[in-house]
Amino acid sequence: MITSRLRPRLRERAATPAEAAAPRAKGGGVEGLLAFLGGYLGADALDSIRGACDFGARAHAGQTRESGEAYIHHPLAVARILGAMRMDSRTIVSAVLHDVLEDTDITTGELRARFGDEVAALVDGVSKVSLLEQETREHAEAASFRKMLMATATDLRVIIIKLADRLHNMRTLDSLRAEKKRRVARQTLEIYAPIANRLGMRDLAEELEDMSLCSLYPRRHRAISKRLGEDARGKKSPVNALCEKLGGELRHAGIPARVHGREKSVYSIYRKMQRKKITLRDMRDIHAIRVITETRPQCYPALGLIHRLYKPRPGSFKDYIAIPKANGYQSLHTVVIGPAGQPVEVQIRSEAMHRVAEQGVASHWLYKTETTGEHAPQQLAQRWLSGFLESQQKSLDSGEFLDHLKADLFPDEVYVTTPKGEIKRLPRGATALDFSYAVHTDIGNRCAGARINRRAVALHEALRNGDHVEIITSRSARPHPAWLNYVVTSRARTSIRHFLKQQKEKESFQLGRKLLKQALARQGYRRLRIPSAHKVALLQRLDMKDWTQLLRDIGYGKRPATLAAKQMLAAVQSGGESGGEAEDARPAMVIEGTERLLVTHAACCHPIPGDQIIGVMSGGKGLVVHRATCPRRRQIMRSPDSYFHLAWSDSIKRKFQVPLKMETRNEPGVLAAVSNIIAMHGSNISSVQVSARNNASVMSVTMEVADRAHLEDITKKLRAASCVISLARG
Ligand code: MN
Repeated sequence: MITSRLRPRLRERAATPAEAAAPRAKGGGVEGLLAFLGGYLGADALDSIRGACDFGARAHAGQTRESGEAYIHHPLAVARILGAMRMDSRTIVSAVLHDVLEDTDITTGELRARFGDEVAALVDGVSKVSLLEQETREHAEAASFRKMLMATATDLRVIIIKLADRLHNMRTLDSLRAEKKRRVARQTLEIYAPIANRLGMRDLAEELEDMSLCSLYPRRHRAISKRLGEDARGKKSPVNALCEKLGGELRHAGIPARVHGREKSVYSIYRKMQRKKITLRDMRDIHAIRVITETRPQCYPALGLIHRLYKPRPGSFKDYIAIPKANGYQSLHTVVIGPAGQPVEVQIRSEAMHRVAEQGVASHWLYKTETTGEHAPQQLAQRWLSGFLESQQKSLDSGEFLDHLKADLFPDEVYVTTPKGEIKRLPRGATALDFSYAVHTDIGNRCAGARINRRAVALHEALRNGDHVEIITSRSARPHPAWLNYVVTSRARTSIRHFLKQQKEKESFQLGRKLLKQALARQGYRRLRIPSAHKVALLQRLDMKDWTQLLRDIGYGKRPATLAAKQMLAAVQSGGESGGEAEDARPAMVIEGTERLLVTHAACCHPIPGDQIIGVMSGGKGLVVHRATCPRRRQIMRSPDSYFHLAWSDSIKRKFQVPLKMETRNEPGVLAAVSNIIAMHGSNISSVQVSARNNASVMSVTMEVADRAHLEDITKKLRAASCVISLARG
């Protein structure tokens, strides 16, 4: 049930006082719609809309919606929503016809012939990709969404029609089965409402959010509605008195303005409770006032006056007039302490800003001249969309596309400055790493550290408004898989994934080559280079085309190197070159320790340079390195095809984690003494666990060392310490 709290302002909203005075067009149906649109459209436009209505009614004849009513009611209702936004006649025509391609036999060609290219393109843009071309419904939905956004990049009206369509579907959600209802509501909350917000269509977004919340969490929705209702009616409400007082003062100061109390939306309260992890009872900021001045220059004097009357809460003033939000939204926001001590949020904006704040890209559609220029919401939306689509060109599948879109639609943003004083806008929660990618992909890929306001910080440090951010790059720095957990922007995520994929391919190729050569050598084939004739012979035998791919498969562990080597030798019939397979003859393969994506170090024995090591191929994971003394070695050596003797390269620069287990005396200061010794030897502790026994403690320490010699230096000192009873590598 949708409660009476939902006041769909778009349903019948008068945009001008003149229209409000005009008699309301009553009833649904074609005549009702035309009478309503007559409020702002001319006779020619109404004629073409009437034509579309007849055409649509014939096309949908006999179809019904799940509620049982004739199908045509739906497109007419969508047209009416767009009429309330005062959209142009082609948009209205397309809205009336928006489902004919999907649900009837009408073709794009017929639409073009009858209604022209523009309408045909708009209707095609909102039509879904056929389910037959896609594997699952999720795929189909994601693909349809992607197609629709592409069409939107050419003509913003596509998404405006789609959103009006979704709004009407949400208003009539109750006729659907419970499960479908939830699915539609969730999708609305995850994609459609955020998109509407991103496009600045606040009115529409608010209604979508509230209806979705009501379907998904009816009880929570009811509780918040009740509280809002009580507050609005209750004597406690400071809003009415405050409005009156402010209105009077503004008049007195000669600033023409409308002042009214603003009920926050149920969904915005819900989000705030979640974000701040507070209960409804602890929610204080639910009072809000809006001041709408005639012109832009009047906004600041109005703010000054309000701050003179009521104390502003420090840190809560935001100037979205000087720096508009990404969707073109402009306003001054402040929170003042009301007469009874409660915080009251105040928004100040001009009439023109107000229209943009409520309707975003749909505002001023008929009078574009009013809002041209680079800050017009339409221009900003277009720029955002083309930027986003461009970042997604590295053709991911539609599901990933949708995930990236969701991440990009994150509602709030922070503004930070570069060392050159440039302002960068990033979504809230964005980190120094996101910033580095926002500056340039190469900066991101070489990012080694960051300084925020001159203080060195971790790469995953979240940015705050006004931060001054500086990125430290290094030639040897490279993206790491863990970085994917540190970023929120789609740009950073896509770039990191792209880099890692390339890197993994490169590493698997190199590892595969080493493995194959070693396997060949083991069988007595000791040429430095494999002649191309031999490569071709092996590829033919395996029915593969690509040598690179074969080596990658070996590197990934999808194909045993020993088998490939045997097959190659059989294929070239060079058995003469083959020697014995004596265990000792196995040459060791050298690893660098930099093959981070494919060579992993076993968690069971933590090998470090200096240790004798063996490696075992494991499918998908690449090569796993174990110490030759690993308790699991017997098990590993049982399959001679997949294990290898390895040797460390001399030029290893990275550090390795090694766990130690110590028995220590149970006395204060032991941990400090231990960590002191470790630090003095240039190592870091990455984790410590202490468990107490009678009069001794067992301390498990994991620390970073360069190699075995480094480790021995440290353990020697630790053993000599009076507090350490015994020590062993864990
Ligand atoms: Mn529809």
